[in-house]
Amino acid sequence: MTAPEPARPAAKRAPVETPAGRAALAWLHGTRFLTTASRLDQLPGPAQPEVAFVGRSNAGKSTAINTLAQRKRLAFSSRTPGRTQHINLFEVGPKDRAEVLLADLPGYGYAAVERSAKLRWQRVMADYLSQRRSLAAVVLLADARLGLTELDQRLLDLVAPRLAGGAVRLLVLLTKADKLNRRERQQALQACEQALAPYADSGADIGVSLFSALTREGLADVAEVLHGWRAGSHAAAEGPDTAPAPAQEQEAP
Ligand code: GDP
Repeated sequence: MTAPEPARPAAKRAPVETPAGRAALAWLHGTRFLTTASRLDQLPGPAQPEVAFVGRSNAGKSTAINTLAQRKRLAFSSRTPGRTQHINLFEVGPKDRAEVLLADLPGYGYAAVERSAKLRWQRVMADYLSQRRSLAAVVLLADARLGLTELDQRLLDLVAPRLAGGAVRLLVLLTKADKLNRRERQQALQACEQALAPYADSGADIGVSLFSALTREGLADVAEVLHGWRAGSHAAAEGPDTAPAPAQEQEAP
């Protein structure tokens, strides 16, 4: 009888990727820049389901997009001057037949933004989230150490009517999960699920995932979710992109 092997110290290994996860990552690797827009009417028509990435400045949005696409500088940090108020669109899928558009929306909550710029931002976001016909899903990124803040909830309120019944799906990514220990991760997930409970009616399609660009935790799973959204999306069932209704002129986040 041989002696049992000594236990190995817990190694920080990259999460195992399933074949479906690998296929989804290969698909995302083909992500390319399509266009940038500062107004809704500059966006292309609703040909593909669109997945909007939103989050506070510094939440890790551009890092997550770049990590998902396995590219260094596809999306720029929301602090990059001149980019803060734009919607950047990326295509995913075969070159001649994009299957999904990824929309990188301006980060919010960055203090050094003028009031007029905040108001304009709020109008664009409110119009986009409530009226963009091809919007199929929202990926909301939040620092796992902070969870969903009031600003995130205000953003969710803009899209809440479309979450009800599942017309628009929601995936919350709790980013920088590498900074949390096991207990903190559980707490972060639970707190987030609680905060999302008011949005989760019977038909709503809402998910939460821990995510780390550093350790790749959640990466393949999130890629699989995005891959799954390319077909069978029911966004097209909604009304057309029409003239924006006036947004409320409150102080923006
Ligand atoms: P954005 O403003 O939401 O686009 O945020 P960035 O992607 O620019 O990230 C903000 C900061 O968080 C940067 O310093 C990143 O390096 C850092 N960051 C982003 N993702 C991770 C992560 O998964 N783990 C850790 N430890 N840091 C991250």
